[in-house]
Amino acid sequence: MRYAMAIDTKRCVGCSDCVVACQTENKVPIGFCRDWIVETTTGTYPQLQMEIRSERCNHCTDAPCVRACPTKASHYGAGGIVTVDHEECIGCKACIASCPYDARYVHPEGYVDKCTFCIHRVEQGEHPACVAVCPTHAMTFGDMDDRMSDIFKLVSRRKWKTLIPEAGTRPNIYYLI
Ligand code: SF4
Ligand code: SF4
Ligand code: SF4
Repeated sequence: MRYAMAIDTKRCVGCSDCVVACQTENKVPIGFCRDWIVETTTGTYPQLQMEIRSERCNHCTDAPCVRACPTKASHYGAGGIVTVDHEECIGCKACIASCPYDARYVHPEGYVDKCTFCIHRVEQGEHPACVAVCPTHAMTFGDMDDRMSDIFKLVSRRKWKTLIPEAGTRPNIYYLI
């Protein structure tokens, strides 16, 4: 099993509902976030293209944060999800320094925190909170190893990219373009 997310840049309108849902669901402290919105503009006037992306931890298959962690607090969990054991985290920030995506923050209680793919919801048969609330259905979560899954079919059919592929982390978030 390999959990992944497909995020459709043609559907995302940058409403930030996913950000608010994540903060509420996961009790993310004020001033921090597990997901965020990025807007980029490319081209030259008047031929401009704008892209809006909901970004979060990429749950990389070859995750430098896991390699960097001296206590194994950062580790691979069910379905390849990269997770942090709060009890084992000593707050040394080695993982933060190693992540090319700036996906982690230090929780005021001293441990490092980030997106969990809402595994607590997934294990109950629910969608991650951000996926569940998206008003344009821009996000699809599922098992990329299951050829019958919606995400596998979507990623097979559409053009996609991952972020900073040159970092060699093998991200599990596919941005549909
Ligand atoms: Fe680790 Fe960063 Fe990859 Fe998430 S995006 S798995 S924190 S390297
Ligand atoms: Fe591991 Fe915590 Fe240090 Fe990150 S801050 S490397 S999770 S011990
Ligand atoms: Fe937040 Fe869950 Fe979405 Fe990750 S999957 S960004 S933890 S709501």
